[in-house]
Amino acid sequence: MAEISFIDLKKQFRLHEEPITKAIAEVLSSGQYIMGPQVKKLEHVLAEYVEVKHAIGVSSGTDALMLSLMSWGIGPGDGVITSPFTFIATAEVISLLGATPIFVDIDPLTFNMSPDRLKETLSLKLWPVGVTPKAVIPVSLYGQVAEMDEISEIAHRYGLKVLEDGCQSFGAEYKCNKSCSLGDAGVTSFFPSKPLGCYGDGGMIFTNDDRLAEDCRSLRAHGQKKRYVHEQIGVNARLDTLQAAVLLAKWPFFGDELKKRTEVAQRYSESLSDDLVVPFIRRDSTSVFAQYTVRIKYNGRPGRREEVASLLKEKGIPTAIHYPVPLHLQKAFSALRYGEGNFPEAEKASLEVLSLPMHPWISVEEQEYIIKYLKEAVIKK
Ligand SMILES: *Cc1c(COP(=O)(O)O)cnc(C)c1O
Repeated sequence: MAEISFIDLKKQFRLHEEPITKAIAEVLSSGQYIMGPQVKKLEHVLAEYVEVKHAIGVSSGTDALMLSLMSWGIGPGDGVITSPFTFIATAEVISLLGATPIFVDIDPLTFNMSPDRLKETLSLKLWPVGVTPKAVIPVSLYGQVAEMDEISEIAHRYGLKVLEDGCQSFGAEYKCNKSCSLGDAGVTSFFPSKPLGCYGDGGMIFTNDDRLAEDCRSLRAHGQKKRYVHEQIGVNARLDTLQAAVLLAKWPFFGDELKKRTEVAQRYSESLSDDLVVPFIRRDSTSVFAQYTVRIKYNGRPGRREEVASLLKEKGIPTAIHYPVPLHLQKAFSALRYGEGNFPEAEKASLEVLSLPMHPWISVEEQEYIIKYLKEAVIKK
């Protein structure tokens, strides 16, 4: 078996080399490297796809999250509720703005924020004295959107804004609506390994809120609306013209790639569901499978997942763990004074999850090879 890639970005480039290099060359010869016309064009195309009024291209998913919170005036004394089982960026921006992350445990089936735990957190006021919650950031982990209707209903009842972290779920649907259109604002990331990736960092904010859109456009360019007239303190967080051009060149192939990802996921699930816990996708939703992640139940034997992963590695099968340490147990958040046992489902998930190779071009033979050795490893260990 030739080497199996976890994500095959080089293959994607080889397949679409001509339109992509042409798009890059056009930017190079245009001289408009910052806020060139490709940025606006991409914003228009993606806003239409997501079915929202505004899309604002920014320099990363992290900045997309940060600018949205900044435009709501989130700062010291404010609390922002999110999941402890996500990439650190989701909570990092909260702390960076001087606000306090408030974690809520996940639903063990979807790995996304549990609406029941959210309700409990709000009714029991499970946050430090002196903090006032202002917003909720549900994350669509692995490519499936969180239970947004329920979460938004609860959040809005308490007067909180909802920011959808769709960094892993661009293209996914929830009750026939597109991910990134489901909160007061939604964001995504174009990091190369995300379902829609560019060739560097990039991100986007989506919203129907005119004021928020205008504000984020100003914030991404040093708080200016007109050149050298600064109405507020902003940051430098624009999307590069080059990255917008790469995304526009790749865009025609995105739908087909999603279809292929779904087929790969279905093949995995059909073959593996008897032997281990495969992704649970709600009937009213689709996943874009940013990751295809199974659970290796540790059944009282922590380290079983690591043993399975190392058997796979011996066979040349790469795997990854998203994520090995939940955020409330990260040193960076030690000041929040959470501890082990606070979020049992997130803690258990961090010991059991294992992501398998996932990209649109995995061959049936490669998948059969992965499935065979994964089953063998699970039985052995
Ligand atoms: C990737 C990711 C981010 C950050 O996106 P960047 O573009 O890398 O800054 C934020 N949240 C989640 C859930 C992510 O997966």
